[in-house]
Amino acid sequence: MAGIDAVLTIDLGAIAANWRQLAAAGRMAGVVKADGYGLGAAPVARALRDAGCRDFFVAHLAEGMALRAALGPGPMVAVLNGFPPGADEDAGLVPVLNGLPDVEAHAALGRAAGRVRPAILHVDTGMARLGLDAAELDRVADDPGLLRGLDLRFVMTHLACADEPAHPLNALQARRFAAARARLPAMPASFANSSGLFLGPDFASDLGRPGCALYGINPTPGRPNPLRQVVTLDAPVLQVREIPAGTTVGYGAGWTAERTSRIATVAAGYADGYLRSLSGRAAGIIAGRPVPLVGRVSMDLITFDVTDVPQLAPGDAIRLIGPGETPDDIAARAGTIGYEILTSLGRRYRREYR
Ligand code: PLP
Repeated sequence: MAGIDAVLTIDLGAIAANWRQLAAAGRMAGVVKADGYGLGAAPVARALRDAGCRDFFVAHLAEGMALRAALGPGPMVAVLNGFPPGADEDAGLVPVLNGLPDVEAHAALGRAAGRVRPAILHVDTGMARLGLDAAELDRVADDPGLLRGLDLRFVMTHLACADEPAHPLNALQARRFAAARARLPAMPASFANSSGLFLGPDFASDLGRPGCALYGINPTPGRPNPLRQVVTLDAPVLQVREIPAGTTVGYGAGWTAERTSRIATVAAGYADGYLRSLSGRAAGIIAGRPVPLVGRVSMDLITFDVTDVPQLAPGDAIRLIGPGETPDDIAARAGTIGYEILTSLGRRYRREYR
């Protein structure tokens, strides 16, 4: 049967435009980990490359290998979580060195091979997650010979609170990063994520590392989103049924019709990343107008009260994500962040790139 799949449309032109907007301020990477924040690392990275992006970050080695295959030789593909020396099988991936053991292992391989190995040095300035800690930084600063065998392309750090511009940790991290750089051999720096790019000149660096902003998530919470929306999700109505007042809808009898109502059942559910915590909190959009989600979100189905949209028929689409119901809007209702909405987007949706 045609037209019973939900259609997830990913606007690669908007992703490229968002990258260009950010890159107007300086060299910008594209962070395409977690399969391009759920939108497809290969098509997203190709669109970014065609827009001029030359530097990419993923989280896992396997993501890096797949991206190298998708992009071919040329662009930098850096792996944030690092990988053991040689594990990239000469795919030319750049490991992020997240601690002294990583530095020592990769430097040793470089020295043994008689050639320098490209790498990025990660210094922790306040995230306490990955990166050289203060004692490890002391060791490297006191003995730069530890870095022999490495071609350090960048020193990087990562902001913990960039989406809260007034948070004191931001300025502290900027000071710590500047201090760390002053103690290390001279090399380019990579500092800000999406939100960090909007924090001001102290957060500028030789390479920005935006992720979420490329995908239309607002990097300036509380202020208007300066970026273009990327994702629309249209789910088909499977059935429309009329129910008398007093009828309950869905698991747990979670919603009761107060009047004779028309219920549209739509093909999407929590197995598609339409979070169960949205039950009773979200809306669909029909012809630009919201219709309330009623009853619990189930695995494959959700239900909307379309009593006030009498013309709606099976086969029509209800927009679940789009202007007026952005990933950030949905995240706010679900008590999460837009990142989680995007990276949870289901694999069952038919994906269309334009
Ligand atoms: N840099 C690092 C080290 C990250 O872990 C991430 C993502 O979490 C980013 C950059 C991109 O962050 P954002 O999506 O907030 O721009």
